[in-house]
Amino acid sequence: MFADIIIDISHEQLDRTFQYNIPDNLRDIVKIGSQVRIPFGRGNKLITGYVIDITSKANYPVDKIKNIESCLEDRVGIASDMINLAYWIKKNFASTMNQALKTVIPVKDKVGPKEKKSVVLKVTKEKAVILNETYKKKNSKAKVRLIEALIEEPVLEMEIIRNKLNISTSTINLLEKDNVIEVTTKKYYRNPVKDNDAFKKNKAIVLNKEQEEAANTIKKDVEEQRYNTYLLHGVTGSGKTEVYLDVIKEVIDEGKQAIVLIPEIALTFQTVLRFYHRFGSKVSILNSKMSKGERYDQFLRSMKGEISVIIGPRSALFTPFPNLGLIVIDEEHEGAYKSDKTPRYHARPVAIHIAKNKQIPVILGSATPSIESYELAKRGEYKLITLNNRAGNATLPKIYVEDMRRELQMGNRSVFSKRLQSLIVDRLEKKQQIMLFLNKRGVAGFISCRSCGHVMKCPHCDISLTAHNNGKLMCHYCGYEQPNVTICPECGSKYIAGFRAGTQALESLINKMYPTAKVLRMDMDTTKNKGGHEKILEQFANHEADILVGTQMIVKGHDFPDVTLVGIVAADMSLYAGDYRAPEVTFQLLTQSAGRAGRGNKKGEVVIQTYTPEHYSIETAANQDYIGFYEQEIAYRKLLGYPPIINMLKITVSSASEEALDEASNLLKDRASNLDNSIVLGPSKANIYKINDIFSKVIYIRNKEYDKLTLIYENLDAYVVGNPKFRNVSVNYDFNA
Ligand code: ADP
Ligand code: ZN
Ligand code: ZN
Repeated sequence: MFADIIIDISHEQLDRTFQYNIPDNLRDIVKIGSQVRIPFGRGNKLITGYVIDITSKANYPVDKIKNIESCLEDRVGIASDMINLAYWIKKNFASTMNQALKTVIPVKDKVGPKEKKSVVLKVTKEKAVILNETYKKKNSKAKVRLIEALIEEPVLEMEIIRNKLNISTSTINLLEKDNVIEVTTKKYYRNPVKDNDAFKKNKAIVLNKEQEEAANTIKKDVEEQRYNTYLLHGVTGSGKTEVYLDVIKEVIDEGKQAIVLIPEIALTFQTVLRFYHRFGSKVSILNSKMSKGERYDQFLRSMKGEISVIIGPRSALFTPFPNLGLIVIDEEHEGAYKSDKTPRYHARPVAIHIAKNKQIPVILGSATPSIESYELAKRGEYKLITLNNRAGNATLPKIYVEDMRRELQMGNRSVFSKRLQSLIVDRLEKKQQIMLFLNKRGVAGFISCRSCGHVMKCPHCDISLTAHNNGKLMCHYCGYEQPNVTICPECGSKYIAGFRAGTQALESLINKMYPTAKVLRMDMDTTKNKGGHEKILEQFANHEADILVGTQMIVKGHDFPDVTLVGIVAADMSLYAGDYRAPEVTFQLLTQSAGRAGRGNKKGEVVIQTYTPEHYSIETAANQDYIGFYEQEIAYRKLLGYPPIINMLKITVSSASEEALDEASNLLKDRASNLDNSIVLGPSKANIYKINDIFSKVIYIRNKEYDKLTLIYENLDAYVVGNPKFRNVSVNYDFNA
């Protein structure tokens, strides 16, 4: 057997592995993740490396491969942990070891650590004044400007000198050479948390009984070093975050650390600030806008024990804390926890895997748990904790469902129902705040009737059909297609078409209808720049606007106590995203957005506008009835065979050549069909069949057992690699997409 070994795990070039022979006496000892001593280079100097893979295949002539000298058995440090984790991810989420390692191990940037340069005056002030006279005579304006500034303030940051005073490097160099000034360099770690007064909350919170019981149960596991996954199902505003904070306090008191995952930091910075105000500089964050170097800084700080709580997206799971005590996944139902790059891992199983190894608890928190998690809680794999009431004095909002088909019949052609219009006027008069949510998620060209609400669906999959440019309607699961329609097959109306609406149009409409109202808009366009989200949310929190209009990014997790009206303009749109999760996502979006209303002392109201008020997603969301939704949804998944009842492997096959694509995808389908009682669907054209001249088809493999699917993946992968039929074809695997 041979071991692939890397020498430096925190290096960009993880690909550089070296192969060594595992001698007989070490065969049972050397494992993936082991630290080993190996002879290296010409002089065979002994150095330490990490085993990242063990194979029976030699990459070189066997007589050229050196032996591992010894195995450092007791040393299982952070690095070994991480390598083992990478190996597990490779196995379970279909990637190479190299891709998995790059996901798990923080990579050192070529750029060194951040440095702050300052300029210090090296002569006395008196001398500087005299010197400056001579510079004035020589007309050296830049020198004069700098020295004058330094006489005022003898240490100045380089950034100020360069940008505010406009002094060039050559001027600085000249003065340094003359021993008038000195440039000093300090290495530093930036604290990425930007404080913000708008959200300072210093009121002391005493946990209510439900919260306290939840926190105590979990704290016990922290103390006694016990693994458990808790599904903390609490209605919106029930104080889940306070429960996390309380448990984390215990974690810190025990000298341990906590990882807190949130879906996207820019959207939930209010949450970050609550942690920051509680635990101060012990808290740090990771986010997707950070450079590699900034991220690496945070990893170093965690390793050194400078921080105890890291808040971030799914990649924060790989923070190398020396003594991890807790993992929290807030809003655990969010799609952002699934990676969209290989390895396409989901943060939830990875967190649970880590927690089992370390014997620590995991908290999955949500007002609208994913169907997967709730199902696992029902099966007893997770422990369910429920918070039934809103915390403090807040109560759940009153919800109205407005049938837009009726509005049309009554002659109201506006995008706003009569009720929403009158409530908007009411709130503007009362100077309370309003959120208007345009539910645009995943709108993929579905066709619906404005008269009766009918939506064109696949007769085999119960998934809405997607309109394509070729005039056909298609199902992206089974490949079914039919010509597009011009007349509603249900009611005969000709008002059947794709649904189009945008946030910008909505904003102008409001400006026209309510000219005195101040409106903020939050969508992809207005949040492109760094800090864009924060700015808009901060303005809204500071009451600089009456109405916040936006896409799903406005509904997530925010806590604005003065919002007493939420309008959901097109509740149905996400129902027709063309994938089996659409009803779940819709229920979650509606419940979460309704949850933004009435979080303070004033009662909230919510208007849900829909063409299909009878749809169970809408009905149960309107009743704030999670259990009711879960029961209908799980029955539907059972009936049609979707996760979590079965497991599903999605294989995307892509090629610039349609012939190669057809041949390759049929080969894969045939091969998969012969493996392990799986049901194979497709190949069908992908959601977007052609992108940048690359065509894609999708195959779904269904199997009851996840482990069977990983074996099928390995079988197919081995078949594809090196197969000339796949030379111009790429194949991607995604579990339970
Ligand atoms: P969730 O995370 O469940 O949405 P939060 O933790 O954000 O709920 O709490 C909602 C609001 O209620 C926040 O403003 C929070 O400060 C407040 N709150 C939470 N717990 C309590 C409590 N025990 N007493 C008073 N107010 C509370
Ligand atoms: Zn119709
Ligand atoms: Zn279908």
